[in-house]
Amino acid sequence: MMENKDEKMLKHARNKKILKIAGITVLALGVCCTVAGFINMATSIAAMEMPRLFFLLIIGLPCIGIGLMLTLTGFRKEMATYIKNESVPVFNEAGEEMKPGISAIAGAVKDAGKTVVCPYCGSANGADDNFCSKCGKALVFTCPRCNAKVSADSAFCPKCGEKL
Ligand SMILES: [Zn+2]
Ligand SMILES: [Zn+2]
Repeated sequence: MMENKDEKMLKHARNKKILKIAGITVLALGVCCTVAGFINMATSIAAMEMPRLFFLLIIGLPCIGIGLMLTLTGFRKEMATYIKNESVPVFNEAGEEMKPGISAIAGAVKDAGKTVVCPYCGSANGADDNFCSKCGKALVFTCPRCNAKVSADSAFCPKCGEKL
């Protein structure tokens, strides 16, 4: 699994390198052609001649555009990889930090959903309710052995195991 990933990364890096080299080469070529074309045009105009190397501008300018695009794509890929590689551990760290909070929220949700069934009338009441909302009887008792709060439907004390 790691080998495949490394191979993929290597291939990706190679592609990126080719893209950057090609981009820079085309860009350099474009700049050279454009510069040569401009110099020729300037000297030709100064000499009152038709610029013979004017075609260099026609070749050079799109080459600059293509070269820039290729180079930017090469660096964009690098940037994307960098951002991806950087943000994943950051996200994991954030996830680790958020875990206690998430479990606390999950616990609260679980508690909120937990209902105590009234042993007298059978209606469901909230986990924190002390008295039944239907019949008004006490839903929470104190354990005679350890004094822990025990819901009325419990058969045993959850803290000390005393039979109720
Ligand atoms: Zn009740
Ligand atoms: Zn107890």
